[in-house]
Amino acid sequence: MEAVIVLLPGDGIGPDVTECARRVLAAVARKFEHQFEFSEQLIGGAAIDTTGEPLPQATIDACETAHAVLLGAVGGPKWSDPNAAVRPEQGLLKLRSALGVYANIRPVSVHDELAGASPLKAEILDGVDLLVVRELTGGIYFGEKTRSESKASDLCIYHTHEIERIVRVAARLAADRRGRLCSVDKANVLETSRLWRDVTDRIMAAEFPDIEVETLLVDAAAMHLLRRPADFDVIVTENMFGDILTDEASMLAGSLGMLPSASLGDTARGLYEPIHGSAPDIAGRGIANPCGAIASAAMLLRHSLALESEAAAVESAVSAAISGGARTADIARPDQAPVSTSEMTDEIIRCLN
Ligand code: NAD
Repeated sequence: MEAVIVLLPGDGIGPDVTECARRVLAAVARKFEHQFEFSEQLIGGAAIDTTGEPLPQATIDACETAHAVLLGAVGGPKWSDPNAAVRPEQGLLKLRSALGVYANIRPVSVHDELAGASPLKAEILDGVDLLVVRELTGGIYFGEKTRSESKASDLCIYHTHEIERIVRVAARLAADRRGRLCSVDKANVLETSRLWRDVTDRIMAAEFPDIEVETLLVDAAAMHLLRRPADFDVIVTENMFGDILTDEASMLAGSLGMLPSASLGDTARGLYEPIHGSAPDIAGRGIANPCGAIASAAMLLRHSLALESEAAAVESAVSAAISGGARTADIARPDQAPVSTSEMTDEIIRCLN
């Protein structure tokens, strides 16, 4: 097939890991006889430095006409003044909104060989295979913000249709997996959460009666994720709770650098990015773990291009490279010599079959 893929390297380690994902996609194209055209565009701090804006119109235009978008990461100390009028993460929030990608999907599984890299005990990690579905374009991150000298506020709003559509996405994913959905809210305190719970109960009873539903308050969910992570199948939650719980869940896998994400809307076009940030502490040193970006490219093949075999081949290649002993510094055992970002990618491409 022919596909146009927009690459948004961004800042810090973003360009390093995006280049690795591009190389893997190019290898997939050669091997499976597809034609992928890559179009590199600006976002984040790099875009602010060049154009004064975190998301230039040229980037929006390119993304809106592409089959899929692969992003590295945005942000860094150079642009970190929280009071600045223009900030890198504004570019990301605006892009998610412009593409209408309201469902952020983050799979978390643990490679057996990496159980030792997690701060949790190996027996707790046995069998962990969960998916967090986070609402991405509503809630407190997008509500009206006010600030005076002695007061600040962030408005949290959810509309029924925003909850209905994200719950349907999560329920369909659960139906294709182990048939279990856990909805996370704070219904004992927040009115938006009470609406979330009512809508979830109604949709699940009416449209997905075969899915087993559990409801947890977000504080309890944070605890259960560490105590019994293998019990979870699909977790659905609102924007801010999902932001926090997915970083917590990433520790199950040993490193932020391992995990991918997909942000999807009502069309096939999606936005794919590793869940980590721009990691300024290791930027430019060639030691970043590219696996999260490469696994994001696999999700791109699956969800935007409907290339399931190719997606599975990339995921198997990542596993095979790790099983073969290739480890970047963040996941290496103390007795192991770590490989560089590009050596890890070479090994994954070698394992692609
Ligand atoms: P971070 O994810 O960048 O880094 C946290 C820690 O994990 C660091 O020690 C880093 O070295 C390590 N790490 C992250 N990715 C890694 C990888 N691929 N390989 C090896 N180690 C890795 O989070 P942070 O330090 O809180 O944020 C740094 C910057 O990134 C900030 O400006 C923040 O706003 C931005 N950020 C961007 C995104 C995004 O673009 N989606 C997400 C989170 C943070």
